[in-house]
Amino acid sequence: AAELAADGAAAMARWQAGGHALILADRNMPGMDGLALARAVRANEKDRGGHVPIIAITAVQNPEDLALCRQAGMDDALPKPIELDDLRRMLEHWLGQAAPAVAQMPASRDRAEAAMAARPAGATLDVGHLARIVGNADAKQIRELVDLFTATARGDLPACRRALDGRDGQALALAMHKLKSSARMVGALRFASLSEAIENAARSERLDTATTLYAELVHALDDVEAAVARLALAPAVAVAAWRGPPPRLVLMVDDDPVARRQMGILLGGAGAGEVLALDDAAAALAELARRDGIDLLISDLNMPGMDGIEFLRRVAASDYRGELILASGVEDRLLQTAAEFARAKGLNLRGTLNKPVTRDALLALLSRPSAQSAAPHETEMDDVVSPDEILEGIRRDEFEIHFQPKVDAATLRPVGVEALARWQRGGRAVPPDLFIATAESHGLIGQLSEVLITKALLGGCRLAEAGHSLALSVNISAHWLSDVRLPEFIMASIQATGFRAEHLILEITETGLMADMTTALDVMSRLRLKGFKLSIDDFGMGYSSLEQLQRFPFGELKLDRGFVRGAAEKPAARAILAATLEMAGKLKLSTVAEGVETQADLDLVRGLGCDLVQGWFVAKAMPVESLSGWLREQAS
Ligand code: C2E
Ligand code: CA
Ligand code: CA
Repeated sequence: AAELAADGAAAMARWQAGGHALILADRNMPGMDGLALARAVRANEKDRGGHVPIIAITAVQNPEDLALCRQAGMDDALPKPIELDDLRRMLEHWLGQAAPAVAQMPASRDRAEAAMAARPAGATLDVGHLARIVGNADAKQIRELVDLFTATARGDLPACRRALDGRDGQALALAMHKLKSSARMVGALRFASLSEAIENAARSERLDTATTLYAELVHALDDVEAAVARLALAPAVAVAAWRGPPPRLVLMVDDDPVARRQMGILLGGAGAGEVLALDDAAAALAELARRDGIDLLISDLNMPGMDGIEFLRRVAASDYRGELILASGVEDRLLQTAAEFARAKGLNLRGTLNKPVTRDALLALLSRPSAQSAAPHETEMDDVVSPDEILEGIRRDEFEIHFQPKVDAATLRPVGVEALARWQRGGRAVPPDLFIATAESHGLIGQLSEVLITKALLGGCRLAEAGHSLALSVNISAHWLSDVRLPEFIMASIQATGFRAEHLILEITETGLMADMTTALDVMSRLRLKGFKLSIDDFGMGYSSLEQLQRFPFGELKLDRGFVRGAAEKPAARAILAATLEMAGKLKLSTVAEGVETQADLDLVRGLGCDLVQGWFVAKAMPVESLSGWLREQAS
């Protein structure tokens, strides 16, 4: 029997009534979505026990998205549009298993992988998968790609046999690893899971198991060859993906022939001009030096001979100025580290792709604005301000305050604003990081902050008069906390402006750097006693860290934007976010994610249970007049 519910909340109510052996939940729904439903169910199970399998139904099947589902407590995912065979297999798998085994299934990656591998042999040749990775390429190209795979695999099998006979587990594992990834690429899923099983057996020197599986592998290859011959495929449709003019000449380096061919097909379909594919980094360097006009370089990381990192270092030292994409099957952490490295070396990195590269992932990357236009250098090195210039700026009343909205993560309703200092000097904006640091190091921060806070409070009053009941966050430099008169100054300003004390939030960073800890403790306790809320800013960076949380009476935690923007693509940042939010929950701190720049950033922090968000995706900081207009728009 199946019960149907139109949204997460309705499903939750039904499930609470009991009697369900499995939940299939759409990933995206208005109101309570699939992730929220899974979290709610798992939270509920903490009390009542048990573990109902939850399957996500999702149109996006990238690793990040699957990781999000897993994090929310889902056990598996079913691609949309649902195919009957997939559904049947999924039900057999999760319902066929005895209840007790399911009950202790944690949402761990290993278990999920074990579950995948144990599933009744994967498809011989998954056409849906092929379509995902090469898109609407024509039938001839697809057949050619699969043929290339079977030919490569046939060519590699004798060496595998020799490794087996010579009981060389190491060599066998390596060969299987390579075959596994090419097989995955063409959707030869059964072959891929067998190679993986052999790889694992070989690694742990279980060579008898490997021998048994090897016989299966040979059959699986026969099956793939038979399946290619039967393939019926739709004719090709061209997709124009490129933002800006498509590259005329692409150079790609990858030691895997199947990966090279696939990328060639994908790029051709996306409208790229000529694609030069090489199997070796040294040859690629020579080609870069020889040919003008290469405007995109796509590189693998794991290559025999010169590895990807060495290659990137050499490319950075060359005069290549075109774009770079890193495509690799290495673990995501490593891929992201390599990306950081490429950026640090000044390479023009468009982005990274996990292998097997899917058509959607490639198209998403191609349609994104290129890195150079998206991230101009934020500060210029030759920008310096002197303390005298700051004093002059104060005298001329050049400092202003802009306000950036803080909104509820779930509803996007504005709940507060952060006051950010702005300084236009001689027609140029001086970055706040710069003048705040100068003021701090020259003992001017108290004087400057008095100006800034007064203006912020006046702005806050204007908003209140216009009927907006919003919290106002102001930044308090840790250097200023050594001034015992700070609480009195703030009280006096509150009284002078008439701003409501309980609406003021004081954001404090880098408290760990404070020389005079006793005074800081004194000042912060008194501020708290006077009813202001204290927020720990830039949490996770520098000195703003765990120890400070237990030392000072914070009520809010702001996650540094370095962990937030782009975190959906960075597993390490995501793990830090998840752990920090969980901890904040236990400490009963309200949480704010700053630096939310994209829908993906928002989905991520929302999914992880962050209370409030702030960032360019919602709005940039703006003068109070513009803010009133913005707030009115939000309300209507
Ligand atoms: P902060 O307190 O961490 O402020 C948030 C910064 O992140 C602001 O930079 C804001 O414009 C920026 N931001 C907001 N949303 C996004 C986003 O989606 N993406 C990115 N990349 N950035 C975003 P801003 O205004 O340049 O301020 C820099 C720092 O200067 C502040 O960092 C704060 O530490 C300091 N600061 C600014 N105003 C004041 C002030 O009045 N007093 C004191 N003491 N420090 C201030
Ligand atoms: Ca701040
Ligand atoms: Ca911050």
